[in-house]
Amino acid sequence: MGSGQGILQKETADNGEDIKSLSLSELAEELAACGEKSFRAKQMYEWMHVKLARDFAEMTNLSKELRGQCSRRYRYTTLEALRVQESAIDGTKKFLFKLYDGNLVESVWMRYKHGNSVCISSQVGCRMGCRFCASTLDGLERNLLPSEMLDQIYSITRLIGERVSHVVVMGTGEPLDNYENLLRFIRMLTDENGLHISQRNITVSTCGIVPRMRMLAGEGLQITLALSLHAVTDEKRRELMPIANRYSIGELMEACRYYFEKTGRRITFEYSLVGGVNDTDEDAVRLAALAAPLGCHVNLIPVNPIKERDFVQSETARIMAFKNKLEKKQINVTIRREMGRDIDGACGQLRRKELTQEEAAVSPIREE
Ligand code: SAH
Repeated sequence: MGSGQGILQKETADNGEDIKSLSLSELAEELAACGEKSFRAKQMYEWMHVKLARDFAEMTNLSKELRGQCSRRYRYTTLEALRVQESAIDGTKKFLFKLYDGNLVESVWMRYKHGNSVCISSQVGCRMGCRFCASTLDGLERNLLPSEMLDQIYSITRLIGERVSHVVVMGTGEPLDNYENLLRFIRMLTDENGLHISQRNITVSTCGIVPRMRMLAGEGLQITLALSLHAVTDEKRRELMPIANRYSIGELMEACRYYFEKTGRRITFEYSLVGGVNDTDEDAVRLAALAAPLGCHVNLIPVNPIKERDFVQSETARIMAFKNKLEKKQINVTIRREMGRDIDGACGQLRRKELTQEEAAVSPIREE
């Protein structure tokens, strides 16, 4: 086949190239090698990335012959929606999807005033080991393909029937641990020939892999980078996040400064408040001192307790006092709305529930 072969990371389909992870120009090269005119590639790309077709059979303006040839040559990824949980509080919907190899991923749909937002997973499982996070308890299974990250948005768009305007890569997985596929995903999602989502409406959250943050700064993107900080001293951070053994807060702050200087985009600090662990006034003062020089926005997340660990949420009064302390230092702070608190909102909880065969109060769904 053409030059698209072998460009993807190793999870690339073993029975044929993953056609939905090819850019329009790569697809054109592939089809040209089969003797097709370039407008055919444009039509097929539109079927995949705008009309969100679930298989080649839907592509009715392409010949049966071409469709048949492609379905023999390529893998066409689609996700099977296994379950959905809807929050009775705010309408947030959490989806559990099955991948072609039987692995499971979860994604969350949220309606905001400014539009519909989807939180996607970037890996099956995670190897970062953050102590409070359910996604990492069983380690990393594999990276997601670019198409599988896109498919989470495509499937939800089809199921809900409304356009998605914002995407956050904050579900299961460490996006910068799946760097090449993440970059391809972002470029395809923001491509004018696809869903054409604004780069400014995409947020990538990282636990802080310093060399990758620096690399990302040089990609010429206008996305928002969110850093999961969660502690203001190296000692405390190491208790919560194993990655802190590798990179110090000092190195992280240098990488943040570099990112800001290169891209002009302000970083968001995420800070999960854990009762009695990282929520004192002193912590708030130190956090303000880290955020202020970089003009960072701080997003406070009351920790979502998981049953495998004994972390507890800070008292509401403590959360408010922490927020006030930051605001007194002129820091821009938000408290993350606890979207879908009643539906296993914490990362990785739905997938884990399914894997551990627990009784789940969720309904199976069928896609038309
Ligand atoms: N690996 C990336 C993105 C996934 S997690 C990262 O580390 O940023 C998205 C955010 O949710 C991170 O800030 C993560 O630390 C936080 N998080 C994970 N589990 C949580 C929990 N149980 N309660 C509160 N925040 C949690």
